[in-house]
Amino acid sequence: MGPLQIKELLQTAPEGQGVTLKGWVRTKRESKNAIFIALNDGSTIHNIQAVAAPGQFSAELVQQVTTGSCLKITGSLIASQGSGQAVEVKVEDIHIYGTADPDVFPLQPKRHSLEFLREIAHLRPRTNTFGAILRIRHALAFAVHQYFNDKGFFYLHTPIITASDAEGAGEMFRVTTLDLDKLPRNEEGQINYKEDFFGREANLTVSGQLEGELGAMALSKIYTFGPTFRAENSNTTRHLAEFWMIEPEMAFFELKDNMDLAEDFVKTVIGYALENCKDDLHFLQNRLAEEDKNKPQNERSLPLLEKLSFVVDNPFERITYTEAIDILLKSKPHKEKKFQYPVGWGIDLSSEHERYLVEKHFKKPVILTNYPREIKSFYMKLDEDGKTVRAMDVLFPGIGEIIGGSQREEDYEKLLGRVHEVGIDPENLWWYLETRKFGTAPHSGFGLGFERLVLFVTGMSNIRDVIPFPRYPKSAEF
Ligand code: ATP
Ligand code: MG
Ligand code: MG
Ligand code: MG
Repeated sequence: MGPLQIKELLQTAPEGQGVTLKGWVRTKRESKNAIFIALNDGSTIHNIQAVAAPGQFSAELVQQVTTGSCLKITGSLIASQGSGQAVEVKVEDIHIYGTADPDVFPLQPKRHSLEFLREIAHLRPRTNTFGAILRIRHALAFAVHQYFNDKGFFYLHTPIITASDAEGAGEMFRVTTLDLDKLPRNEEGQINYKEDFFGREANLTVSGQLEGELGAMALSKIYTFGPTFRAENSNTTRHLAEFWMIEPEMAFFELKDNMDLAEDFVKTVIGYALENCKDDLHFLQNRLAEEDKNKPQNERSLPLLEKLSFVVDNPFERITYTEAIDILLKSKPHKEKKFQYPVGWGIDLSSEHERYLVEKHFKKPVILTNYPREIKSFYMKLDEDGKTVRAMDVLFPGIGEIIGGSQREEDYEKLLGRVHEVGIDPENLWWYLETRKFGTAPHSGFGLGFERLVLFVTGMSNIRDVIPFPRYPKSAEF
């Protein structure tokens, strides 16, 4: 089925065998005795070297073999003359599928800035860096499904178009079937429309959680893994307008079970990447080391593979929000007034606080629990003291929050009280509230932002560089 790919060929093909290669030229080098073509087909970070003799092909054809052009090469595998790979291909025939005029093809063989590559998101998968990132992203997604399948979870598809706003944060993209050009506008030019999806309100989902809970109340253990949208006009390196979220939801799990699952899950999928993406991770590790070369010793990051192994091999720290605030109040940056946002019980931790706890104080991932009720969502189960809720955030070095989760409130009256408290109309959530009327059960779940995981594993520093087509204010227009 289809041609042999370079990855398979490098792993299995014996010398002397005739082969057909299809891929894109990374570089071409001409010397007195040979023409060397490095070909890559995306199946691996490695190129295969094809060698032709000078004069074997017309000057016109050789000229058209340029970086970025797409070729079919037939030839035979021979032991490599140079160092590096064991085999190379002695070229017998070249067919050009597509040329790439070097005067206009933007991906020349040099390192391009990540900012520039974001402008050409349609071509950047053809770079080594993005090839590696996309293969790792794939491996992590596969590991996610494998993990939950092995643990008896069912993959539940929750709606993309929905009326509910799980977080009540008002960061939703509206969906409309109306012809906005034909609607009357007020003096400020605004349109007053509410019932816009065939007569009802609709938005793009900000989280599959509430629907996920319905699934857990029937199948016991489910997970979602789908696109999520937040209309946050945010220009941080950690936020996208469209990202993928993994949300397991489990009946009969309490907060401690939820933490255990989150920790085991993250470690397992990172372990999978360590095991199965060695070449790509090594490539990214070297890339980072090169970037670090000019930095002073104390600002250099740990080698990528070491950083990942450390997370997999060591228990996460688990502390309550109240303990975290105590640590922050006793910390040097607080005493020296170095934090931008002041610390005190009741604040929503900002990323400088989270990163202090993870990177400076504990030097490992931290699970923070039992946050004040005022700063967390209505569906989280109240603690006995009535002041805090059974929330948990998992914080990672270099990133901050990677997971947000909680034990959910299963008591109908208490949940209704919270719905009123935060000003949501219970009519809009009648279906959600009903699960607490009919056979309610203790349950818990969490949401992991998939791109934040990919960010951590690849060691990249901007979330826009770990999703094929990033959506953010002013992103590329396709
Ligand atoms: P943050 O505090 O970073 O804004 P959040 O608390 O608003 O995140 P949640 O509603 O708890 O996010 O969503 C669960 C997870 O989804 C987060 O822990 C994070 O990993 C991820 N996430 C949230 N917003 C974004 C975004 N705009 N882009 C990418 N990932 C996101
Ligand atoms: Mg947010
Ligand atoms: Mg948060
Ligand atoms: Mg959160």
